[in-house]
Parts: sequence; structure tokens; C-alpha cells
Amino acid sequence: MKNDALQVYIHIPFCRRKCAYCAFYSEPAATPEAVRLYLDKLERDLDAADIHTPVESVYFGGGTPSLLTEADLERLFDLIARRLPLMPDAEISLEANPETLTREKIRLIAAHVTRISLGIQSFDRELRSRLGRDCSDRAIAAALEWIGDAGFPHWNCDFIYAIPSQTRAQWEKELRWAADCGADHLSLYALTPEEGTRLAADPALQIDDDLAADLWKTAGERLAERGIFRYEVSNYARPGGECRHNQRVWQGGRLAGFGPAAASYDGECRFQEPASLSRWLVGEPPTVDRLPPERRRREILVMNLRTVAGWQRENYLALPGATPAEWEQILTAARHLEARLPGLLENDANHLRLTPRGLSFWDEVAMEWL
Ligand code: SF4
Repeated sequence: MKNDALQVYIHIPFCRRKCAYCAFYSEPAATPEAVRLYLDKLERDLDAADIHTPVESVYFGGGTPSLLTEADLERLFDLIARRLPLMPDAEISLEANPETLTREKIRLIAAHVTRISLGIQSFDRELRSRLGRDCSDRAIAAALEWIGDAGFPHWNCDFIYAIPSQTRAQWEKELRWAADCGADHLSLYALTPEEGTRLAADPALQIDDDLAADLWKTAGERLAERGIFRYEVSNYARPGGECRHNQRVWQGGRLAGFGPAAASYDGECRFQEPASLSRWLVGEPPTVDRLPPERRRREILVMNLRTVAGWQRENYLALPGATPAEWEQILTAARHLEARLPGLLENDANHLRLTPRGLSFWDEVAMEWL
């Protein structure tokens, strides 16, 4: 891990329409005036941050960054290029929704971005409709073709599984199409009824945890057969296609977040901008999450245990305040945990990781460590 590098997250808080499962902060309409005010404030915040640390990655998330017009995207990319000291090999990611794309917009994005992330969620129209996901088959097909033609170095597609009534056969078909669509990265999330979403308010909704576990296992097996490997509980990549931004954040790298609801981490405290465009625009300060340093390291320890690689001793010791004695204590605790819950952890003097079975029990392991 490069300790002297910074990761930047920029939250674009606009969507065409709220998807029924989504708990991320976004506003359902993006008027030209709202976008202008947003970009003006973003520019002021980037100026005030006056970043000189080399920036290793920028992640435009949301919301729907691709909802911005080409003129607004050009302004956004120009802001970043002028105000952030980007490393020569910086990874620049942008989330996109198929319905908001045109061939011209994809070309513009490809000129500034190294990695595009396309929210498909399902190739099956009926399952998308069950998710309250407003997107046509035609828009998905067109977006895949344009992205393929644009030559992005890296490319992700998002999917949701364990949707009520979804069968294993449907999921296997989805995985085949996903593996063949050209992306070198797939993010697969089990459907979770997050509080405050339309989906969670549906009294008829039944989540089948056994089905979710079966489909998660199926994903790992079927994608590995096609050269796409799980590297985190919900993330899969062809070798070299892993998302560097997320890897650094999972390992406790410093993160500067801009925009409503954006999170930051300065190596000590976490900060959260207000999840409201209007409150953010008037300068309401972020909330601060302070934890004792040892407890913060424990939090980072369990977060990165979601990765297949887990921890190497040297990576853990790169965390601020971490010591060899603390690493030894962690290994001792891991051995005790392994004695009580066999088959979930693997460790030696220099490594600590979850087994493939352990990854599916990450929640239980995390509870033990926190
Ligand atoms: S899933 Fe994406 S497109 Fe849908 S509401 Fe959430 S942020 Fe917007």
C-alpha cells in the first residue's frame, strides 16, 4: 500500500428515478440550476481542500454521474484535472446507468476515465422490474456495445442476485452473459432490503438467505471457470482488473470525499458530509466519527478481511500506530477464534485471511473481532 497516496471520492447526487432497493443518497431530479450549484460548490470545496498529496484514484459515484450532460461532465473532468495532483497511472472510475448514456457521452467519458462501472442489475427485464429498476433491454444492449467500442482499460458491471422468485438456472444464465459481455470486473450484490427503501416497505417481500448463499457460491464457481475470480465477498475480476480505489479504501488508505453524503478518512477519523444537497450547499459541516486508534485499526482489520487476499503483515504494520506486538496479538486471537469456529480462518506469521467458507461467514467473524 502506498501510504503517501490519497484516494478521492466524488458523490454526484442525482438520479433519473429512485430504484426500489437503493439506500444511497440521491435526488430524483437534476435541474440545470441544481447541477450548476452543485458544481460551483464542488469547485469551492476542491479549492479549499488544496490537495498536494499525490492522488492515486478518483471515484465518481452516486447517484448517477452519467446523468450529467456532456457540458457538465467536461466541467467536472476539468475541475479534477486542474485541482488534483493525479499520479500518472491514477485510476479514474465513473458509475453509469445505461439509460443515461449515448455513444457521444461514452466517448467523452472514455477520454477522461480509466474505468467505467455500468449498473445493469439483471439482464432479465422481469427481475429488473421486481427491483424497481427503470431500464430497458435496448438501453443495456446499446451501452454494452458503446462501452466495448470505446476501449476503456477497465470496465465493471453491477448485478443483484437472490431476487424473490429468481432461480439458480436464471442466475447461471445471467453469469454466462455477464462473463461474456466484455467487462473485466463484476460486482454482485445479494438483494438486501435496506431501511428506508421502497423494497423494504413491501410487506410481501421474502428474502431467502439459503438461496442467496447458494447463488453466491455458484457465482464463484461459474465465473472462475471463465477466468473471473472473486477477490472480495462481492467483487470479481479478471487478473489485473481489480478496483484499486476500493482495495486501498478497504486497507485503511486515506480518502478525501466531496459532495453530499461523501465519506472521508484522514488516517484517524472518519467524516461524513450531510446526506442532503440543500444542507451541503449551505456548508453544513460533516459529522465526525472519532474512535480510539486501536479500535479504528480493528475496524479496518475486519473490513479488509472481506478480501480473498486478507492481510499481509507488512500491510497491517503500515496502518498508523500498528506495531509488531499488535500483529502478534491479532494472530493469537485468530488462533482462538479458529479453535472455536474451525475452517473459517487461515493464518501464519505473515498472513491472515478468511477461507472461501469463512468469506460467507464474514459477518459472524466481524462480530467476534469488533
Ligand atoms: S441504484 Fe443507482 S440509479 Fe438507482 S437510485 Fe440508487 S444510485 Fe440512483
